[in-house]
Amino acid sequence: MKIRENVAISTLTTMRLGGNARYVIDIEEDKDLAEAYHFADEKSLPTYILGSGSNVIGRDGGFDGVILVNKLHGIYVIDSDPAKIRLCAKSGDLLDDLVEYSVKLWNGESYGYSGIEALSKIPGTVGAAPVQNVGAYGQEIAQTLHSVCVYDCRDNLFKHMMADELDLSYRHSIFNTGDGVGRYFISSVTVELHKHWLKPPFYTSLQAYFDERGVTEFTPQVVRDAVAEIRAGKLPDPAEFASAGSFFKNIYLNEEEAEEAKKKDIPVWDGGKVPSGWLIEHAGLKGKELYGMRVSDKAALILINENAKNYADLARARQAVIDAVKEKFGYTLEQEPMELGDE
Ligand SMILES: Cc1cc2nc3c(=O)[nH]c(=O)nc-3n(C[C@H](O)[C@H](O)[C@H](O)COP(=O)(O)OP(=O)(O)OC[C@H]3O[C@@H](n4cnc5c(N)ncnc54)[C@H](O)[C@@H]3O)c2cc1C
Repeated sequence: MKIRENVAISTLTTMRLGGNARYVIDIEEDKDLAEAYHFADEKSLPTYILGSGSNVIGRDGGFDGVILVNKLHGIYVIDSDPAKIRLCAKSGDLLDDLVEYSVKLWNGESYGYSGIEALSKIPGTVGAAPVQNVGAYGQEIAQTLHSVCVYDCRDNLFKHMMADELDLSYRHSIFNTGDGVGRYFISSVTVELHKHWLKPPFYTSLQAYFDERGVTEFTPQVVRDAVAEIRAGKLPDPAEFASAGSFFKNIYLNEEEAEEAKKKDIPVWDGGKVPSGWLIEHAGLKGKELYGMRVSDKAALILINENAKNYADLARARQAVIDAVKEKFGYTLEQEPMELGDE
């Protein structure tokens, strides 16, 4: 087990902000988990789990505790029948590698199993996917998640949990709410995928992509390639731009509120969803620079750290966006990424 001391959180997270963590431990095998939690217990320090750090913002005061960085790897077929397959991935694998694996598997008639192809190119690890129930282009992990294996650091044992025990909904699960926060280290994830391909109608921008090109065969690989191309055109590449993806959650309205919004020409999609990116753009902020942060000129929901000096700059930029949207539309935006450390 590798233990490092005084490591900058900015080097472990894609927003590239944050002070030092006292200890960082790489979790390379399941057996490292008990040892790492024991190490933290002995020192009476809190722990924090990190995958790729693409949905976590580091604060300036650093973290007087132990960060467990997930380096568990391996993808296995655990069960299959003529119609479906179960794939189990260790939680430190990249979600995109699991998608790539699934669309290339021979299914007895053709290549590819369907169920996670629209999640292509979402940055981050497999283990983080159930935490906020990642989703994109009409799919979310909840639709295919079968089960997870977790290390429960309260009871000090591994447990198997079925998807319906995880309370998955939009950006929500037992792992990011209440007592579940920090209690479970997800060590592997099992998804159940199907041989049948997705059928139209697709998510609006994906459908437009297919219509423009006259695509009529929606193999998992075709959908993956389309999503990858659409994302490359509008989302900042984490290797080049420091961001945490969508910085704010979309807003969900009840029926009455949705009717009110429509009267004001605010777009309301299925399920009462108001795209927060639209609100930010129509509050006049798309492409604007705020305290060293840039509201992306391609996708206004994304805040890019161009040259923010610290977390305090990000906090000022966040407040400016929240205030502008509140003033123009009356809605209060809520931040999507988690935060780590002291201010
Ligand atoms: C450019 C960009 C685009 C993005 N696009 C999307 C998108 O389309 N859809 C979407 O849903 N998200 C998107 N995101 C957000 C991000 O990719 C996801 O939230 C992803 O699941 C985070 O994975 P990670 O490994 O980086 O998790 P981290 O950021 O390291 O962790 C996220 C949270 O999960 C917890 N966690 C991580 N691993 C485990 C584990 N093994 N066990 C228990 N808890 C754990 C952490 O403690 C933390 O609270 C995007 C981010 C970026 C930078």
